[in-house]
Amino acid sequence: MHATGEADNEQLIQALQQRLTELENRDDALSRQYETDLRAYLKLLSRFGKVLAISDKYQELLTGVKHRPSAHPDQNVPGMAGKGIGHDADIALDSLLEHPEAEVRNLANHHARLLRQMRKIMMISDGYLKELRDASLRLELVAKTDALTGLTNRRGMIEKLEIENARALRAGSSMAAILVDIDDFKNVNDSHGHDIGDQVLKTVARLLQENLRRSDSCARWGGEEFIILCPECGWDQAGVVAEKCRNSIAGMHFPTPQGSMNLSISCGVSCADKGNPEWEELLKQADIAMYRAKAAGKNRVMLFQA
Ligand code: GH3
Ligand code: MG
Ligand code: MG
Repeated sequence: MHATGEADNEQLIQALQQRLTELENRDDALSRQYETDLRAYLKLLSRFGKVLAISDKYQELLTGVKHRPSAHPDQNVPGMAGKGIGHDADIALDSLLEHPEAEVRNLANHHARLLRQMRKIMMISDGYLKELRDASLRLELVAKTDALTGLTNRRGMIEKLEIENARALRAGSSMAAILVDIDDFKNVNDSHGHDIGDQVLKTVARLLQENLRRSDSCARWGGEEFIILCPECGWDQAGVVAEKCRNSIAGMHFPTPQGSMNLSISCGVSCADKGNPEWEELLKQADIAMYRAKAAGKNRVMLFQA
């Protein structure tokens, strides 16, 4: 039968192995790093399992041996497996190390060596756990960030929309969404190449952010489309934010090898009052408004109207 510590350890190993299988299906650099960390940690855990098993065996032997009480007459050798190694165990072990019977002293010596090894492994294991936690956080951040622009990506924005929607519902406040689409962006790629197109996307992302309030957030929704979420914001205010963004991009000279180029964006604005409509519908409305802005000649802001 397994001692508790050993069983816990095996459970942890199984859980981590499951996590590894999930990671094998991902092929980004961070997941690879996480996988390497996890493998190293697993190796360490199986060593730790062996130490626990040996330690449990010696624990049984030691508790069976009558030891000479010294500084603490009532002290029994406390159970160690999986419970961490406390001060009590140290005192009990000290007395066993000075026991008159050589056999007990030998056992105690062996046990002390195991303890030292176990403490060392625990220390390393704590370090690995911290690294794993950091790697998890980094992974989460990467999963919600657009690699090109550094903005929140669609996944991260959906999370924010859900949170802000619930908040607006609770607080009875309004929130607005602005859908931004770069006009004739395909021409940029066609005339100047994909790299210049990428540079333009980065610059537009930066300009949009520069025109927002602290509480607003901007995400790359896909391709050349961006979403701006403005919590606690009504129709008029959202219209002003969108107009500021439009104006800022229309006034920008984007550099290309063939000289500078001007660009514009079309914005569709929609507003939800007290969480109504919910964010999915809010975005649909902003999308309709944005297409109306395109149909009306682009480079303009359109507020949604039913
Ligand atoms: P409209 O004014 O109607 O919005 O026209 P548009 O040309 O902007 O729209 P369209 O949907 O025809 O083209 C969008 C282009 O955006 C096509 C696609 O190749 C380009 N694109 C999408 N993602 C990226 C990217 O990450 N980098 C670059 N360089 N181009 C991208
Ligand atoms: Mg588009
Ligand atoms: Mg476009």
